[in-house]
Amino acid sequence: MLRIPAVLQEEVIRHCVSAYPKEACGILAGSLAGAAGVVSQAYPMTNVEDSPIGYSMDPKEQLRVERQMRQAGQRMLGIYHSHTASAAYPSPVDVRLAISPDISYVLVSLKDRARPDFNSYRIDGQTITPEPVVIG
Ligand SMILES: [Zn+2]
Repeated sequence: MLRIPAVLQEEVIRHCVSAYPKEACGILAGSLAGAAGVVSQAYPMTNVEDSPIGYSMDPKEQLRVERQMRQAGQRMLGIYHSHTASAAYPSPVDVRLAISPDISYVLVSLKDRARPDFNSYRIDGQTITPEPVVIG
């Protein structure tokens, strides 16, 4: 389960909307409460692919954010990115690039920009499991 305050969910969606029609990406950080990830900060990242159909994070920026998270006593809970023309569901490439079953993969779909979709998944090998998202 992923718990995210409404303001942070809005921040993530705003970041995705601002990058449209390119994909946006970022890191969700916070703490664990039992098996639930509790998001306390979203770190918007630069999509160095600068593409409407893919994303990759700037490795230097990633190192900087990892340091910031460590200093703030946060753990990386997940990665978010947007899909500008498809559903909020991991693509085959997203599955191939997934690095850990222990983090959340949050997808924001802007297919209908008036009503962005926000979903979270766990990806373990080829297995995609939807994860409940609790707002607040
Ligand atoms: Zn994707």
